[in-house]
Amino acid sequence: VKDHGRGHFRFYEKEMDAIYLNEMVMESYLRRAIELNELKVYYQPQIDLRTGQISSFEALLRWNNKKFGFISPGQFIPIAEKSGIIHNIGEWVLDNVCRQLKEWQDKRYRKARIAVNISPKELKMEDFSKKVKQKIDAYGISPSLLEVEITENALANMEDTIQTLNNLKNIGVSISIDDFGTGYSSLSYLKRYPIDTIKIDRSFIQDIESDEKNKAIATTIINLAHNLGMDVIAEGVEKDLQASILLNANCQKAQGYLYSRAVSIDEINEKYFSKRT
Ligand code: C2E
Ligand code: CA
Ligand code: CA
Ligand code: CA
Repeated sequence: VKDHGRGHFRFYEKEMDAIYLNEMVMESYLRRAIELNELKVYYQPQIDLRTGQISSFEALLRWNNKKFGFISPGQFIPIAEKSGIIHNIGEWVLDNVCRQLKEWQDKRYRKARIAVNISPKELKMEDFSKKVKQKIDAYGISPSLLEVEITENALANMEDTIQTLNNLKNIGVSISIDDFGTGYSSLSYLKRYPIDTIKIDRSFIQDIESDEKNKAIATTIINLAHNLGMDVIAEGVEKDLQASILLNANCQKAQGYLYSRAVSIDEINEKYFSKRT
């Protein structure tokens, strides 16, 4: 599926027929995706660089439409946000994740934590933290198993969000800043918000072995996080050399194709939990 600009996406169906799917069409299909069972939560491991052990999983949404095939979240999440469908989708993801955490918790897989992406629109909702608390209580999971990932742009309007994040923190949920260094916020939010982890954006990691500027930026973010008492994780790690540079720079955690792509829950259970841990 390719983005052809102006919100038009081209799908190749049955050999050569090209179909142009605009945002409105995609929106109408997306509206039915949950009831048609087309959405799935995939999981990508986050690795402790020192021990090589998994420290957590990031939940990443997958949409397989019967007619159009796989559509990437990079395409449908913005449409879900614009249309408001993100509220249903976000709740559906959170529900799935909590159910998974409950299953692992019951099996005593204690270390299996999950990070969930939260869109700025969801975070702005007045009762968002209440909804999270309700889910945690309904499933009876330990709140420390759940982590929310938010982008810097979600923090732009502070008054609304600071209370929500403080509430989440008080509930016992951890908070990560996603795509760090790519948003429009100033660093001052690092003082005001209860942030546990900084995620270094992939754009700073991808050439870290050859690009001195990226290496300087990544190293500085690692030190910044540590000086603030926060954890740090590098995303988009694809090569051994990148991992060793990061480890040398004292980065604790990494995530990327070097370790695994996001995979189905069956694959996760088979690969990481088939023997008792
Ligand atoms: P993100 O949160 O920054 O997620 C990281 C993206 O990078 C994922 O793409 C992941 O599959 C990909 N990735 C991970 N490791 C590597 C690597 O080593 N190399 C490369 N090239 N890519 C890597 P994905 O799954 O397509 O998701 C794209 C974006 O969609 C996410 O970016 C996130 O912003 C959004 N998204 C995904 N699932 C959800 C969700 O459940 N809720 C919300 N609100 N947004 C979601
Ligand atoms: Ca993320
Ligand atoms: Ca990210
Ligand atoms: Ca991103």
